[in-house]
Amino acid sequence: MSDLPLRSQLAVALGRTAARMSRIAGKGDGSVIGGRIGLRLDPELLTRLARDRNLALVSATNGKTTTTRLITSAMTPLGEVATNAFGANMPTGHVSALASARTARYGVLECDEKYLPMVLAETGANVVALMNLSRDQMDRAGEIWLLAGKWRKALEAAPQSHVIANCDDPLVTWGASTAKSVTWVAAGQHWREDSWCCPECGGPLDRQGGEENSDWRCRQCHFARPRPDWILHGDQVVAPDGRSFPLGQLSLPGRANRSNAAVALAVVAQFGVAPEHALPLLGEVKSVAGRYTTVEHEGRRLRLLLSKNPAGWLEAFDVLQPAPGPVALSVNAQGPDGRDTSWLWDVDYRILRGRPIWVAGERRVDLAARLEAADVAFTMVDDIEQAVMAVPPGHLDVIANYTAFQNIRTRYGRVV
Ligand SMILES: [Zn+2]
Repeated sequence: MSDLPLRSQLAVALGRTAARMSRIAGKGDGSVIGGRIGLRLDPELLTRLARDRNLALVSATNGKTTTTRLITSAMTPLGEVATNAFGANMPTGHVSALASARTARYGVLECDEKYLPMVLAETGANVVALMNLSRDQMDRAGEIWLLAGKWRKALEAAPQSHVIANCDDPLVTWGASTAKSVTWVAAGQHWREDSWCCPECGGPLDRQGGEENSDWRCRQCHFARPRPDWILHGDQVVAPDGRSFPLGQLSLPGRANRSNAAVALAVVAQFGVAPEHALPLLGEVKSVAGRYTTVEHEGRRLRLLLSKNPAGWLEAFDVLQPAPGPVALSVNAQGPDGRDTSWLWDVDYRILRGRPIWVAGERRVDLAARLEAADVAFTMVDDIEQAVMAVPPGHLDVIANYTAFQNIRTRYGRVV
């Protein structure tokens, strides 16, 4: 990578300087501005920086930051790994991640679903991990069926890339099925509201079994669940050779993280890291960009859970303290959250009945209306601090969407 053309070297150096200045100015980690300047000077910089590396791209609606972290941790025995650990998951962030680890032979890059075709074309990544697709911020995210169609075209044009895909998600399966080689992971699918119809013909999908390892097939055409190579069963992962590995060592809670871990094991196996070596390294990941972190405030232990879309809310509900543990919810509608929060009506909040519930954030009135419709008792507060001080000392689960989460994290401690 030291054989970059002079212009590219200059682009990397200036990008790094800009990133450093951005950090000094307190404007985040600088990876976006650094990458933007680098790409402006050399539009082919991502391709050049990716050359001669073993790269994995990780994409999904939910879980891509966490899974990227898990894979990166499990790949440490192979040597230095370049990664966009702070979630800057567009080409600017990728340039920055690769430029700041010039000698790393391996790279694991979280990739925004919409940018995946472009990043795949530019990097020629060796491995592409695809986990789930579901409705997201309504005013910003594209229609997910169209997105899966773009994945199909991109993978067809990238026969060098091996795909690791969740075959429990029919839309992901369809998106991945044009790839030349695929490892199928039965990683489970909790949120099913976006996959009742066949992506191939629009017919109804029939399912057998529960939320994990359940078979599905189209009633009208040939489209059906492929035979899985890796299978998640409760807290066990069964590898292609039939060996079973317990996920009890995971530090991250909940079924969504067991699913992320199953995908991570399949990805690192592709790079030659065996599950028995990878598992203890997965356990070393305890929090991801503040998610699942517990912060202390005035005797209260706040556990911070990020939830950006309907499927994410189900993941958060899955890891709540047992009822009647109190829960504070905070929903904003700024740029990164999406301004349209109509998706609140897609979430089944009845699971919160019987708990003390606090509602905060810019869209607390929207959330309150939704909870009222679901017959969930709650208290609305102007400021999350009122909720924190109203609960007795002890545990409080806090579920928030993106900017609400960042505000709470900044206020009560940026422990990562
Ligand atoms: Zn069909």
